[in-house]
Amino acid sequence: MSFTMPNAEVRHNWTLSQVNALFALPFHELMFQAQLTHRANFNPREVQISTLLSIKTGACAEDCKYCPQSGHYNTGLERERLLEVEKVLTQAKAAKDKGASRFCMGAAWSNPKQRDMPYIMEMVKGVKAMGLETCMTLGKLDAGQAQELAGAGLDYYNHNLDTSPEFYGEIITTRTYQDRLDTLSHVRDAGMKVCCGGIVGMGESANDRSALLMQIANLPEHPQSVPINMLVKVAGTPLENVEDLDGFEFIRTIAVARIMLPKSHVRLSAGRSRMNEQMQALCFMAGANSIFYGDKLLTTENPEADADMQLFVKLGLVPEQRHDVSDEAYEAAMADAIKEQNTPSLFHAAS
Ligand code: SF4
Repeated sequence: MSFTMPNAEVRHNWTLSQVNALFALPFHELMFQAQLTHRANFNPREVQISTLLSIKTGACAEDCKYCPQSGHYNTGLERERLLEVEKVLTQAKAAKDKGASRFCMGAAWSNPKQRDMPYIMEMVKGVKAMGLETCMTLGKLDAGQAQELAGAGLDYYNHNLDTSPEFYGEIITTRTYQDRLDTLSHVRDAGMKVCCGGIVGMGESANDRSALLMQIANLPEHPQSVPINMLVKVAGTPLENVEDLDGFEFIRTIAVARIMLPKSHVRLSAGRSRMNEQMQALCFMAGANSIFYGDKLLTTENPEADADMQLFVKLGLVPEQRHDVSDEAYEAAMADAIKEQNTPSLFHAAS
């Protein structure tokens, strides 16, 4: 069976059977289609690098069953209040020096309170002034808050759909799917870019994975960033013992996302620390072209930053340059980061 299609077509009218047909392709055929799409839209050597900082940790009022930050579950996570602006800016500077082009700030909130907004806006302005792209994930936003954040210069807002509408009620009961769609709509209306993806490996069916990607691709505009997370099973959360998702199914999910969202950055996100180098390489081949870089991904482990650089060298990948800014210091920092890792010790007999 073969499934040929234009490699750059942005569609918003996917049907479930079309998405299922992509998932059902022979693995190599699916990877080939995904690569064609990827190469038609991106430099396949480039991977966009983001760093994520938790600016407020734990005690969240929502009950997302995968999340160690939910106040509904006892995971032993240490709670932290909203970080001071200065501390956030120090971390952003460190991330920039390590080669990050985007700095994401996440707060475990149902929604930001008005009293917190002035601090949030200071963070956005300060990080942006360093020449970094800014992204935040703060929970549900109303239209006014989205406008305020856009006014402060926030580039991206992350708000995931998590899973299919059908499976959603098994995972979260305190917020509706429509709430999420509404927040995404406020973010778009305010002119910010959207980061929106989901989590697989939560016990959902193959149909649910297709339906999640269909929801994302059929939004009025494709999100500019699409994080695909593999569940990190955290002790104390209701999903701690859920069955593992087969690695090939995860890679297929990346490949199908790449084909359906041809111009979006598909981010290999949470769960990457459990993937060996070969699996990550297959994910990059399937069209993933964005990662989180750094020691922590909110509260779950992330491969150490230097291990990421070593993998980049082995695979011949390079951090994506920002095309909208000319920042010589930033570009030099990234070049140095790569050069530092480009030592003979990283090459084996094959080189
Ligand atoms: S995923 Fe976000 S909204 Fe859900 S419990 Fe965790 S921090 Fe709260």
